[in-house]
Amino acid sequence: MNILILGSGGRESAFAWKLAQSPKCDKLFIAPGNAGTSQYGTNVNIGVNDFEAIKQCVLSNNINLVLVGPEEPLVRGVHDFFLADDQLKGVPVIGPQKEGAQLEGSKDFSKQFMARHNIPAAASQTFTADTLQEGLAYLPTIGLPIVLKADGLAAGKGVLICTSLEEAQQELKAMLTEAKFGAASAKVVVEQFLSGIELSVFVLTDGGSYKILPSAKDYKRIGEGDTGLNTGGMGSVSPVPFADETFIKKVEDRIIIPTVNGLKQEGIPYKGFIFIGLMNCGGDPYMIEYNCRMGDPETESVLPRIEADLVDLLLGVANGTLREVDFAVSDKVAATVVCVAGGYPGEYLKNRPITGIENVRGSHVFQAGTTQSGEDVLATGGRVLMVTALRDNMFDALQQATADASRIYYDGCYFRKDIGFDLI
Ligand code: AMP
Repeated sequence: MNILILGSGGRESAFAWKLAQSPKCDKLFIAPGNAGTSQYGTNVNIGVNDFEAIKQCVLSNNINLVLVGPEEPLVRGVHDFFLADDQLKGVPVIGPQKEGAQLEGSKDFSKQFMARHNIPAAASQTFTADTLQEGLAYLPTIGLPIVLKADGLAAGKGVLICTSLEEAQQELKAMLTEAKFGAASAKVVVEQFLSGIELSVFVLTDGGSYKILPSAKDYKRIGEGDTGLNTGGMGSVSPVPFADETFIKKVEDRIIIPTVNGLKQEGIPYKGFIFIGLMNCGGDPYMIEYNCRMGDPETESVLPRIEADLVDLLLGVANGTLREVDFAVSDKVAATVVCVAGGYPGEYLKNRPITGIENVRGSHVFQAGTTQSGEDVLATGGRVLMVTALRDNMFDALQQATADASRIYYDGCYFRKDIGFDLI
């Protein structure tokens, strides 16, 4: 079969790498992809939100299945677009329709969904400009720090953790009355702060049954020791040592089953990945957020541990037969170190030639912000490359990925040397 992946990051590189290994995948297309994805398939230069161009690509290449990497086309309704089009409706899309994508597209929707299905989560209330006074009155009742979340998508920047009441008051006003995050902060969820250790659990569902994918932990801050500004993610490891069987069972019983059943009961079709962002609070899982797609850079650590054929899993989702698909996970440990551009997450250096990828022997390099320019691969994005090692134990995986990241060079290349070492 012929498969199209939408997206251009490290996550989509990892999907392409895994799908290309399947004997069932004839032709693989990545739209738009990056310099690295052309190793696994054909890059097609169209944007992930250009639905008409995606349609032409699907029809002209006889695509049989579409896997959507990022959230934006899902929230904008790419799956619904396929279902509404006579020529496309037989082509399965992996990723929820608009309504299911609201789990990520609206924090207020997701908090209300959690409440309706008794899913453990921090206490919260949602406010608009019209209810600003009620919001200001709510702030002192939930203790410090106070978490403010723009309701809509805000490119990963819409969550503020305020350490004083004054800061929370100012920020709430700025979000609601000065459109601090544009239309995304027309509604704001004010939430209690949860203390604990954060991790992510991923679920693949066909809307009835589900598979729990390996757990992963990502490292968001730019600086070593988890300091400095937030980024898209500087590294990840899988599995997470403290997410043992007992903990994952609690996640399954208290979060995954109520989520999948809740979607079904509410008549919300959902075929795709659910990213469950959790806080482990003294051994009990509490929801932080849902995403309607896989995480990046968690995917780069999760997929190498999945032994099953990803095409079988995706077909199981498409056909509603996921329950019957064999699913095995490797006991090995995966570690991913992300190489970013100098200056990221602020203004960063662009178009610097990359050398040394060929010197990496013990890890796999998933490209993200790269482009081909003649013979050169140029670093174009904030997050440039993800270096993933799979080893028998955590220490070896971390050491290998970190050592291999240092074999790559481009002007301004930076990566954290402490990814995962807090878990050893
Ligand atoms: P979100 O976009 O909801 O994932 O939030 C971004 C980050 O903010 C999360 O990854 C957490 O590190 C942090 N965060 C969000 N909500 C809370 C909360 N209620 N308590 C503590 N930290 C939180």
